[in-house]
Amino acid sequence: MSKKLAAGNWKMNGLAASLAEIDALAGAVKGAGCEVLICPPAILIAQMAAKAKGSNVFVGGQDCHPKVSGAHTGDVAAAMLADAGASHVILGHSERRADHGESDADIRAKAEAAGAAGLVRIICVGETEGERDAGQTLAVIGTQLDGSVPDAATAADTVIAYEPVWAIGTGRTPTLEQIAEVHDFLRDRLTRRFGADARGMRLLYGGSVKPSNAAEIFAVSNVDGALVGGASLKAADFAGIVSALSAA
Ligand code: PEP
Repeated sequence: MSKKLAAGNWKMNGLAASLAEIDALAGAVKGAGCEVLICPPAILIAQMAAKAKGSNVFVGGQDCHPKVSGAHTGDVAAAMLADAGASHVILGHSERRADHGESDADIRAKAEAAGAAGLVRIICVGETEGERDAGQTLAVIGTQLDGSVPDAATAADTVIAYEPVWAIGTGRTPTLEQIAEVHDFLRDRLTRRFGADARGMRLLYGGSVKPSNAAEIFAVSNVDGALVGGASLKAADFAGIVSALSAA
């Protein structure tokens, strides 16, 4: 398996002045035993990538368009992210599924475009609170996984993030048993589809991860890192999560 991955999702937060956090982060995670990634708003990728050059912080996008180019006002193609210095892209985040009506087929098409542009794609899946209460968690996640992940996915180019929608930005987290149940399910389903290679596909947990709960989450079976929103905005907080992952 590749190194574990601590990925930060800045969402629609950050201005040019926020790039100072990358200097601080790069200094704090020097020698980390895991991969470190920050996905800022697209407008900041090129500047952030320039600042991160020579450090062990990767820079990524938060979405891409499935087409290579064309009449798609306001959209960004995968090759444009790569050209700006991105190495990864988050796809199918629940906020995009909800705000932009992205379907599993849309996400798969974007994932294929990301792969063609040489980006590692981080494909998000996760249930709503209503779906969990109705006992549909694994069925929902299984459908999202089957529909969103391209047939050609490998451990080298694809990462899966389990993000329960009800845990994102709420301060609430599933129990460690609930995280283990979903991550074991993901590993099993991916291995059935992709064979032995899927044993090395990294599975991230996301949803209210912070320095204080990171170590216990990283000790759960089949958790290979985290996708972090709020706690990735401040270098000191994110460095605490990176340090917990390095020690896991
Ligand atoms: C996210 O946006 O992917 C996320 C997990 O957010 P937070 O860490 O703030 O819950």
